[in-house]
Amino acid sequence: MDIQYRLEQKRKVLADFPGPRSLELAARRAQAVAAGVASSVPVYVADADGGIIHDVDGNSFIDLGSGIAVTTVGASDAAVVGAVKEQVEHFTHTCFMVSPYEGYVAVAEKLNQLTPGEHAKRTVLFNSGAEAVENAIKIARIATGRSAVVAFDHAYHGRTNLTMGLTAKAMPYKHGFGPFAGEVYRAPMSYPFREENPQITGKEAAERAILMMSKQIGADQIAAIIIEPIQGEGGFIVPADGFLPRLAEFAKENGIVFIADEVQSGFARTGEWFAVQHEGVVPDLITTAKGIAGGMPLSAVTGRAELLDAVHGGGLGGTYGGNPVACAAALAAIDTMETQDLRGRAREIEATVKERLGKLQAELGEAGIIGEVRGRGGMLALEFVKAGSGAAKVPDAAATKKIADYCLKEGVIILTCGTYGNVIRLLPPLVISDELLADGLDVLEAAIRSVA
Ligand SMILES: *Cc1c(COP(=O)(O)O)cnc(C)c1O
Repeated sequence: MDIQYRLEQKRKVLADFPGPRSLELAARRAQAVAAGVASSVPVYVADADGGIIHDVDGNSFIDLGSGIAVTTVGASDAAVVGAVKEQVEHFTHTCFMVSPYEGYVAVAEKLNQLTPGEHAKRTVLFNSGAEAVENAIKIARIATGRSAVVAFDHAYHGRTNLTMGLTAKAMPYKHGFGPFAGEVYRAPMSYPFREENPQITGKEAAERAILMMSKQIGADQIAAIIIEPIQGEGGFIVPADGFLPRLAEFAKENGIVFIADEVQSGFARTGEWFAVQHEGVVPDLITTAKGIAGGMPLSAVTGRAELLDAVHGGGLGGTYGGNPVACAAALAAIDTMETQDLRGRAREIEATVKERLGKLQAELGEAGIIGEVRGRGGMLALEFVKAGSGAAKVPDAAATKKIADYCLKEGVIILTCGTYGNVIRLLPPLVISDELLADGLDVLEAAIRSVA
């Protein structure tokens, strides 16, 4: 990796942030912005680059969240900025459904090339992850002539009506927002750390889900199985080896469209272009967004040509889908991922973080609060349990929050997640320097020790 940072990559926070300008903005916000939008951090951003975020009062924070797995190449990657400037000087929008342009076609070609499988593929572009998921379901339904859709425990697929229905967790995502779309069914996930029978294999966990699908829905009624290959909001859950391949095989045997929702896990994040590649799984459809365009809003559905081409002309689209500025950003971001070998960088980050946190876990011992260190590449997590809770593995959301709060106070932005709110997830920009990552991990380690 050879990155020229625009901003100094150094953590520096005053003892009493948020400072006056952030407080002033917070007061304006309270009068202007809907209360339903929450922010993890009380400061307002002035600038961001590499692994650093500057606030409006002169504080600098280490970013271990990448704006939820979006700024994989950093928040102001020179190639992305250049491509955006170049595009924006020519045209900001024409609508691909009205007067098309090359950028959209080039992004589709790139996605068809990078996604797993040698079959003929097609791509359609949208704006958000939820929109991509909704459209993947539309495509699966029209292509199969079936309506049932299967999602999993702990799943997160978005906040629109259909994707809320696919999402598992009620609070805060679904609470009070129903009724939800019909024909959505939930199957049991493989969650190795929390299996009642810790010996259960991935294949057995898949058979458990298949039994549910066969008995409660009927395989021939199912249009699609949708799954995050590594679950994001649900807790960075990596299913046991063999779980995804068996589900994909079951889908194939029964004419079910297998959809990998790689909105969070895609684009070099896990050390491969896509997380399914760790197990050699080839999805029929794959949804992408977040890391795809260096922070510009863009999402996609990519998959088997015969599925995407099953939709009638005009059946897919949207005013802004595949916006030319976002497409230019995506081509540049993907180029940076390739030229800087950010897949390799993700694997380095995994090795560094797992070694550090694995040591700490061993030191705190069986009765300590670190239940598990898991994840792949730059998508890593710590699951916290009540100290001494033993085999019960009682989730400790309070300790998790304390750790995240401690990190923030010291100038490290860290995100939590999980059905039980007891997981800290690490999603650093993959362009973060070794020094900055080490400094962030020092703070995290001190935070864990302060609570343990
Ligand atoms: C974030 C996310 C979504 C929703 O993406 P938005 O752009 O927020 O609509 C869908 N699926 C997964 C796996 C996600 O992580």
